[in-house]
Amino acid sequence: MTDWKALAAELYDGGPRLMFIGGAWCEARSGKVMDARNPADGSLLATVPQGGAADIDAAVAAARKAFEGPWSRFTPFERQALLLRIADGFEAAWERLCLSDTLDMGMPIQRTLANSRRVLGMLRFYAGQAVAIHGQTIPNSFPGEIYSQTVREPVGVVGAIIPWNAPIAGSVWKIAPALATGCTVVLKPSEEASLTVLMIARIMQEAGLPDGVLNIVTGLGAEAGAALAAHPGVDKIVFTGSTATGQAIARAATGNLKRVSLELGGKSPVIVCRDADIDKAVPVAAMAVFANSGQICIAGSRLFVAREIHDEFVRRVADFAARLRIGHGIDEGTDVGPIISARQADRIAGYLAAGPNEGAEVLTGGSRVEGTAFEGGNFIQPTVFGGVTDDMTIAREEIFGPVISALPFDTLDEVVERANATPYGLAAGVFSTHLGTAHKLAHRIKAGSVWVNMYHAIDPAVPFGGVKMSGYGREGGTEHLDEYLDTKAIWINA
Ligand code: NAD
Repeated sequence: MTDWKALAAELYDGGPRLMFIGGAWCEARSGKVMDARNPADGSLLATVPQGGAADIDAAVAAARKAFEGPWSRFTPFERQALLLRIADGFEAAWERLCLSDTLDMGMPIQRTLANSRRVLGMLRFYAGQAVAIHGQTIPNSFPGEIYSQTVREPVGVVGAIIPWNAPIAGSVWKIAPALATGCTVVLKPSEEASLTVLMIARIMQEAGLPDGVLNIVTGLGAEAGAALAAHPGVDKIVFTGSTATGQAIARAATGNLKRVSLELGGKSPVIVCRDADIDKAVPVAAMAVFANSGQICIAGSRLFVAREIHDEFVRRVADFAARLRIGHGIDEGTDVGPIISARQADRIAGYLAAGPNEGAEVLTGGSRVEGTAFEGGNFIQPTVFGGVTDDMTIAREEIFGPVISALPFDTLDEVVERANATPYGLAAGVFSTHLGTAHKLAHRIKAGSVWVNMYHAIDPAVPFGGVKMSGYGREGGTEHLDEYLDTKAIWINA
């Protein structure tokens, strides 16, 4: 059994951490630093550099030099071997990586550990893809000996900007396919959770990644993030975060018309039909929101339940929520950890007040968690609202916290229309034992992913992303490679 507290004391002692540019570990050019605090108790874990535009300039220059220099001479098989070594490095450091995320952003340790299939799988899946990227020989309409073929080339320097809610998975999902295609990367983690991403860069360096192929600039969104999005030396931006920031990034990217892909927010519906297997559906529908304290883009926060079973189903979801153990992520028994910051907890508390003010009924939860065990931390009770109508603020806006809005429905046509009546289109869940119903709903709901009789499944081999204001572009699968590749046509007059 791992002694997580002892390991935590070894990992962070309040001292400075450095960012990673061109293979060197460095401070911000301004000398400024930011505090990295544990959201469970407010304790200082470390300080990290507060990088700005000058640091982004240096990182982009290093990424360009690597892209045109040593990295361009790596064969696909060498990139594959490197990705496999990186995966082994991750596996060896897995407990430390997971603990770092738990300390820095609060995710319960059991949940971070469980991400290994996805993260190590991502590195190994794209190691396989590195040697499978190829063009085509295409017949054409020209007479004579004129041949046409395509080759797939890396777009160049990728700027990656990620949120705080899953730093390990969030960064690896952007870096692994970029390395497979031969791109180089400048990654800006969230100012709320930078520490694990720096640890990841160390593992990649130790695995033999050439200088400048991956650069990490820690800093604020409005400074380092904005500079990266607008930088003329960046060929592609991949962003995960809020819809409002995604819009700002898309605007900033127009300066050099760099390509953009956006993984944004959601207000995902979960639809429980009258023929659902209720025993199986209750815990899944509840954890569709309460996992990671609701701080997941795909949180199934609108729970539509067929009127015939609505009251029983929602009562059981509320009972389930009331039994969840709230606590520090480092305690192995914790189901629901802290919220990332006081600012974010205040935002969620605003929704907890808005619900009853607009006529919703608190079935469980409904407030912050108080008490000496929670001092200095940002904890919110898992909350289920009943009596919700589609027009209420809690049913319309992304809360990004542990809050479910339960809504009864009568017919399938009606629930499809209501589920789709949102600007978002990231994900959806359907619970039904009737194959036809499940198919009909899965096809008619506008979302990038629909799960039937399950939720949360994300896999390296399966594309993930949104439609409408949840963004565009796909991560995972071979679709992700397309985000990082250009297609060149070559004509030969033989
Ligand atoms: P955010 O948009 O505030 O920040 C995300 C990142 O963007 C951070 O690194 C931040 O520093 C940076 N940033 C902020 N302003 C910027 C600017 N003007 N220019 C460039 N970069 C800027 O989001 P957040 O609060 O960190 O995360 C929560 C949001 O992320 C939610 O809306 C959630 O739904 C979304 N999210 C989406 C997915 C997905 O895959 N679709 C996954 C996780 C989170």
